Amino acid sequence: MSDNTATHTDIAIIGGGLVGLTTACALAHSGMRITVVEGRPLETVQSAQSDGRSSAIAYGSYRFLKDIGVWDTLEYKAEPILDIRVSDSDSRLFLHYDHRLVGDEPMGYMVENHDMLKALVAKLQTFPNVTVLSPVSWEDICYKPHATNITLNNGQTLSARLLMAADGRFSKIREHANIDITKHYYQQHGIVCTVEHDKPHHGIAQERFLPSGPFAILPLANPHQSSLVWTEKDHLAPTYMAMNDDDFNAQIYHRFGGYLGQVKTISKRFSYPLTLVLAKHYTKGRLLLIGDAAHGIHPLAGQGFNLGIRDCEKIVPLLTHQYQLGLDLGDTSILSGYEQQRHFDAMSLTAITHGLNHLFCSKLLPVKLARRAGMAALNKAPAIKKFFMEHAMGMKV
Ligand SMILES: Cc1cc2nc3c(=O)[nH]c(=O)nc-3n(C[C@H](O)[C@H](O)[C@H](O)COP(=O)(O)OP(=O)(O)OC[C@H]3O[C@@H](n4cnc5c(N)ncnc54)[C@H](O)[C@@H]3O)c2cc1C
Repeated sequence: MSDNTATHTDIAIIGGGLVGLTTACALAHSGMRITVVEGRPLETVQSAQSDGRSSAIAYGSYRFLKDIGVWDTLEYKAEPILDIRVSDSDSRLFLHYDHRLVGDEPMGYMVENHDMLKALVAKLQTFPNVTVLSPVSWEDICYKPHATNITLNNGQTLSARLLMAADGRFSKIREHANIDITKHYYQQHGIVCTVEHDKPHHGIAQERFLPSGPFAILPLANPHQSSLVWTEKDHLAPTYMAMNDDDFNAQIYHRFGGYLGQVKTISKRFSYPLTLVLAKHYTKGRLLLIGDAAHGIHPLAGQGFNLGIRDCEKIVPLLTHQYQLGLDLGDTSILSGYEQQRHFDAMSLTAITHGLNHLFCSKLLPVKLARRAGMAALNKAPAIKKFFMEHAMGMKV
């Protein structure tokens, strides 16, 4: 393939999901030429029919989205998270995280993914230096000393100073580059839907650790609606997915414990297989992995997208600085510095989410007693709670 016929771009981002689009918006402010390549049509990417999830956006991520100008259109669609209550199966004891322990601001916001994706696409369309190619995929990638050439299935070839892979946890670009991964299948599925309930949620997020996995009820902008993430064992998930609405509603009512009154599903149900995928390296030559392509973790702490935003927060100033000084965007020392710093954050969160999932799924009596004693002790230790909250809010990493 000849470089003369290729379209030159400073950065090519393959994958126009939450992290790819956020990174493109953040980079666009520098004036760099950014090309985003997304395999699905943009209408599908932004549709509630293709992603039924909502994301807990940590306070630190909210500030970043505000800084890059994406939050303004989301403000009235986002629900502040004021309180988080974590309980263990049938125990009446719960861990209580009140936002007032760390200040006046909410701990974060709940936003429906399709609203977030719409806001990101709309923002990108305001930048003349950003091109979004969709539905387009890549066919071949060739790493050269001064650029990366990407052959696309629309007949075009891109020549980029840097290629960012934001193509999700099953990244084919990562595979093509022979980057090793650590993988663990949780043998769980996340069943996701939106529910309507009689009583208002008051901005309270609930996470109940049931024997099959965590069951999260997350407040949406409508005070009578919540997003549900029900982690269920693999062999049982298809049964719940196939249930008629009345039976499904009865199952979720039983798990909600009645505190929101009657509940009913108002959206399609989605089911996501839960897999941990960690790349051993986040960079190779002129390739950089971001978001789930670098680290796909268990959703129980609602941190996957937040982790991707923190990737973006780290790499964008480094690349902007290189660009403004006319330096190489594929500089190895810059890219490996990013890898070193981001690896630690991702590994810490992986250890926490992985450990919590195992700890709370255990039915062994000594483990049950120990975790309840741990929760009771933590409830009485505001300094430790504050420490955990500040980390979960992305205020300290
Ligand atoms: C049930 C559930 C609940 C969650 N809740 C939360 C939460 O509350 N808070 C939170 O922070 N995180 C949450 N997460 C995690 C979060 O959804 C992910 O971390 C996030 O979506 C990762 O974004 P991404 O852009 O890296 O990858 P993806 O969202 O997977 O996007 C990848 C994109 O790449 C495109 N693509 C793939 N291959 C190609 C190709 N060959 N060519 C072109 N394009 C391609 C895909 O079409 C897709 O658009 C949750 C996850 C699950 C499963």
